[in-house]
Amino acid sequence: VISLDDVHLSLGTGAARVDILKGASLDVARGTSVGLVGPSGSGKSTLLMVLAGLERPTSGTVRVGDAVLTDLSEDKLAAFRGREIGIVFQSFHLIPTMTALENVAVPLELADHDDPFGTAKTELESVGLGERTAHYPTQLSGGEQQRVAVARALAPKPAILVADEPTGNLDGPTGKQIADLLFEAPAKRGTTLVLVTHDLALAQRCDRQVHLEGGCVVEDTQEKALSEAAE
Ligand code: ATP
Ligand code: MG
Repeated sequence: VISLDDVHLSLGTGAARVDILKGASLDVARGTSVGLVGPSGSGKSTLLMVLAGLERPTSGTVRVGDAVLTDLSEDKLAAFRGREIGIVFQSFHLIPTMTALENVAVPLELADHDDPFGTAKTELESVGLGERTAHYPTQLSGGEQQRVAVARALAPKPAILVADEPTGNLDGPTGKQIADLLFEAPAKRGTTLVLVTHDLALAQRCDRQVHLEGGCVVEDTQEKALSEAAE
């Protein structure tokens, strides 16, 4: 469902120009989970933004499902993102002036959904926050805020869910609860999950681990399994 082919991304100009992605390629099958790991500065977050359509590569092709993101206009790309790509960040990124329910309804309203608030309520119930729908982000714990963010990301029933250090700001047990919710998406909904994490135990829960270094994929457990099977 996801295909990145020889993606390069450079930012800045002149002497300040930096090559962040240097020919990254990656294919991910529908309904599977991938843990993206690698040292700080290796380009993990940038790769996630490229495959979520939030950053356009300098060259290379990005496909998600039938769409070639790198060929879409800004408008079409934004609409596609809203429908098909859910994103969870380390620092929750909820809208502070909106209740939990309103936060989850935002992407549904943008997509002209029939029943944004009814669906938002169902999604909040499925992350265990049925009793917290009228709370504002400041009235929720970090773990609860991240649950709202997961509900918001999954509400439009996206084809892919990307998460950048989703447990990075949470304590161990709370992080595990959030991880459990994230892994329900591939298991129960067939969503494809791409997860960036420094937590190797969390990465190991993914079907496959991809190591990034210096803007390139340097190791991929799937490739290793395939070449071992061929030997
Ligand atoms: P971490 O584990 O610390 O989050 P990362 O693997 O997610 O690291 P990225 O955030 O993708 O790394 O950044 C990769 C490199 O790109 C870093 O060297 C960073 O300084 C550089 N970089 C990121 N964004 C920009 C930008 N807007 N302009 C210039 N350089 C950038
Ligand atoms: Mg990062």
